[in-house]
Amino acid sequence: MKKHNYSAGPCILPQEVFKEAAQGILNYQDSGLSIMEISHRSTAFVDVMEEARNLSLELLGLQNKGYKALFLQGGASMQFLMTAYNLLIKKAAYLNTGTWSSKAIKEAKIFGEVVEVASSKDKNFNYIPKNYQIPSDVDYFHCTSNNTIFGTQIKDFLDVDAQLVCDMSSDIFSRELDFSKFDLIYAGAQKNMGPAGTTLVVIKEDILGKVDREIPSMLNYNVHLEKDSMFNTPAVYAVYVSLLTLRWIKNHGGIAAMEKRNTEKADLLYKEIDRNPLFKGFAEVEDRSTMNATFNLVDESKKEDFDKLWKDAGINGLNGHRSVGGYRASMYNALDIESVKVLVETMQKLEKQS
Ligand SMILES: *Cc1c(COP(=O)(O)O)cnc(C)c1O
Repeated sequence: MKKHNYSAGPCILPQEVFKEAAQGILNYQDSGLSIMEISHRSTAFVDVMEEARNLSLELLGLQNKGYKALFLQGGASMQFLMTAYNLLIKKAAYLNTGTWSSKAIKEAKIFGEVVEVASSKDKNFNYIPKNYQIPSDVDYFHCTSNNTIFGTQIKDFLDVDAQLVCDMSSDIFSRELDFSKFDLIYAGAQKNMGPAGTTLVVIKEDILGKVDREIPSMLNYNVHLEKDSMFNTPAVYAVYVSLLTLRWIKNHGGIAAMEKRNTEKADLLYKEIDRNPLFKGFAEVEDRSTMNATFNLVDESKKEDFDKLWKDAGINGLNGHRSVGGYRASMYNALDIESVKVLVETMQKLEKQS
């Protein structure tokens, strides 16, 4: 039976990518060797890393604009502290839109003063704060583009004077933005790009080298940049599979085509959430994420019936995060619209049998 995978992360990747990735484990490019058992310094792997870094910049439209891409380890959570370690001189501004922003704030406080410019905590993070002021004397402003847990997404990024740092873990490569607005973008691979184990970091090079503190080598962006992301053994397999996904994105029309698909999927599901009297959306309508749709049953006593229906339909990973409850449908790039249709039909089935 076909599975419809709504898992929030690690999550769905294209079937073609899984097939090629499996082949690469057994026999990489007819070399008689697995991609996992060759040196990360071999030409074969150095080519993978180089293409992955270049293709990331190409897809984001950031080639020849002073940016470099790195594939690091430690997840997006490591970036919470690495960004502050490398960029926070005295004071930084943070927008608090949920669990991940809160964690980033906690780490940054180790390195300097943190101004929380706004927070949506008062409503369990179901909206994106607007109309806040960013102090003029901050070293950077940090925000989270898509709040994976709460299902909200920033639609308009402010033009800020400060450097702009963004956690794009759960919506990177999903929609077109002017990425040159950002000075540093990071994204754990496992939400829209590849398997867990590597994190893409895109940095505008000229923002580095301004802090006085000594930075341990493994946490120093400049060290990784000097070594072309090969300071130590990279997460070779995770980088390889990420490259396969990046190629898949490019071959399917790039970010513009992904955005079109993602908008169609999200529109279809939100339309049903709004129409079906048994369901209600969690996030404010204008801030709804195209990646993670959060919703609840109006009548919790229907939970058992609904859970059985969607499981019987081959749907996986629909349970909401423990801090929100209800349901969360993660519709990353690789999810087909057919899967969304199956979910919508399941919601309608519940309505009919109620
Ligand atoms: C999942 C997630 C993280 C944490 O990623 P790890 O790779 O597990 O550290 C951070 N930010 C956002 C927006 C996420 O969705």
